[in-house]
Formats: sequence, structure tokens, C-alpha cells
Amino acid sequence: MLIDLRSDTQSHPTAEMRRAMARAKVGDDTFGEDPTVRMLEEKVAGLLGTEAALFLLSGTMANLVALLSHCRPGDELFGDHTAHVLRSEAGGYAALAGVTATAIAGEHGHLRADQLRAVFHSPDVHRPRARLLWLENTNNRAGGTVMPMAQHDEVTSTASELGLIVHLDGARLFNAAIALGKPVDRLVRGVDSAYVDLTKGLACPMGSLLAGTTEFIEESRRRRRLVGGGMRQAGVVAACGLVALDQQVDRLSEDHALARWMAERIGELPGWLVHPDEVETNIVNVDVATVGGAEEIAIRLRQEGVLVSQRPPDLIRLVTYLGIDRAMADQAVRAMERVAQDRSVAP
Ligand SMILES: *Cc1c(COP(=O)(O)O)cnc(C)c1O
Repeated sequence: MLIDLRSDTQSHPTAEMRRAMARAKVGDDTFGEDPTVRMLEEKVAGLLGTEAALFLLSGTMANLVALLSHCRPGDELFGDHTAHVLRSEAGGYAALAGVTATAIAGEHGHLRADQLRAVFHSPDVHRPRARLLWLENTNNRAGGTVMPMAQHDEVTSTASELGLIVHLDGARLFNAAIALGKPVDRLVRGVDSAYVDLTKGLACPMGSLLAGTTEFIEESRRRRRLVGGGMRQAGVVAACGLVALDQQVDRLSEDHALARWMAERIGELPGWLVHPDEVETNIVNVDVATVGGAEEIAIRLRQEGVLVSQRPPDLIRLVTYLGIDRAMADQAVRAMERVAQDRSVAP
């Protein structure tokens, strides 16, 4: 059997979620009549401490809808250069929202207030309108890194001083909250809108929530419709989200511990570079540049029954989630030990 460490999106809905789907009370959500969707929206607004929230099909759609609600074509966003919205959402920010981007090389995927100040500009007929600060917590590409609380506070207050709106891509915001030991609403302080994903560590089959003021959410409801994201009896899916928020959030700490445990062992393999101290949540980036490179190592690991994702030329990525237990992680690390061994004896 393959051990799939490519992404926490490989998590499957639990038996409890499937039972909740069967029981869910539903209605036409476009008419505002699905009670289960409403319950989920209210629950997330409550958790994040916002006035309202909106259920959407995917995280990509949540980010796109947030851009459509906050920005006009030509407006400029400021974000770390690793941001998922810039790298992994098919260019929707430009293609569909018409937004321009200034990408900044922050630290471990998180830009600092001084960096924002350095690229910010006041209104100028030559320039796009500076509009939005984009945050991502945890940062996916940088390796599940958590934005330090002080840095969050500094950059959001700077944004407010500069008159920028702040959007937070919180695909893994619950992971960040667990890692920081803070309630999740603390992590959205100073933020105008945030999205959280149900399909990563929370193991739902689909769905995300966008949260913000009532006015922003009403605008986003129209924008969701605009991009074809209006839904009908979506309560069958929202039901999974309600179960996930009750049963899967605290469990994320186990994913973090397992990721750290793997990182410590992988870091002992010659030439496999990983800093366990930088593994703060459920993602482990390993630099394999000197031992064959990402593509070759990924192929070798697949032959050994382990799937990892690759970021050529240097990085492979491993992600822990519900369904990867200690025994499977152990088996995966043993496969890596064999691959490392092979290479060290190769001619
Ligand atoms: C997964 C993810 C998204 C949303 O991607 P979908 O494929 O639409 O689920 C957005 N941002 C980050 C950081 C993510 O990891």
C-alpha cells in the first residue's frame, strides 16, 4: 500500500462526517434556506469573532471572491512571493479579479512591516491603487510556517496606518492557532477578511469559509454567484464542516508532532537537509539538492511505496494528516533511509 504524504488534502471524510451528511437538514442555499449551511456559517463567524461568514466551494474560490469584493481591476495587492494566491490559483487574481501584485520576499513566507513600508507608495497617477495586504498563515510553500504573533500585529497595524485592507489566507489557520497555543480569533485581529479551509487538516471532502463584516459577506455572496459558486442543498457538505470543527481541530497537534518526529529522523540522513526546529506544523520541506534532486528522489520513494510532492529542483514536501499514523510515518522514514543508503553506495 502506498503511503501518501503529498498533501493533507488526501485526508478523507470520517465515518462521523458521512453520518452527519445523511442526517443533514437542507434547503436551497441560494435562497438562504439551508439551515445546515447557516449553522456552519454562524459557527465559523463565532470562532473567528467576525460579524458573518460565507460557505464556498473551495479555498481558491474564497480567495478569488475576497479579491472581487475588496478590489477593482488594476488595484494592487502586497504579499509574500510564496503566496498560494500568486503561485497556485491559476492566476485568477489577475485573470478574473484584474488585480496587480507586488510580491515581497519575506521571512519564512511572512513579510514584515518594514518591507511593506518600503514598497508602499502614496496615490500617484502612474501607479496602480495600493489596496490590499495579503497574508497567509500558515504559509504553505515555505513549509507550514506560522506567522509570529508580534509580526502579525505589526504588519496589520502598519497596513491600517497606510490605508490598506488586510485579507488573510487561512487555509491552515487552525494549524497556526494550535502551534501558537492561541484561540483562532486572536490570529485574525487587525484583519478585514479571512478564509479557512475545511479540506486540509480538517479532512472534509470540500468547502471553505470566508469571514468578515456583514457588508463584506453580503457583497461576497453576490460575487460568489458571479463566479458560479451559488449552491443549492449544500447542507449535505456543510454538515461535514460542523463535525470537523468539533472533532478535528485539536487533533491537528498530533499531525504537528508527527511531522516534527519525521523531520528529526530525516535530518539525520546524510545530505537530506531539514531543520526540525522550523517544522512548526504539519508540513516538512526537505532539501535534497545534493543527493539527487527532487524529481529523482520522488521517483525513488515512489518505488519504495511513498508518495511525496516535489518542488524541483531542490525540495520534496511531506505532509501529515488524519490517516497517517506513527506506523506509516515510520515506514515512510525507513523508505527514505533505504533511498539514502542506495545513493551512498552507488558508483
Ligand atoms: C489549499 C490552499 C488554498 C486553496 O486551494 P484549493 O485547491 O482551492 O483548496 C489556498 N491557500 C493555501 C495556502 C492553500 O494551502
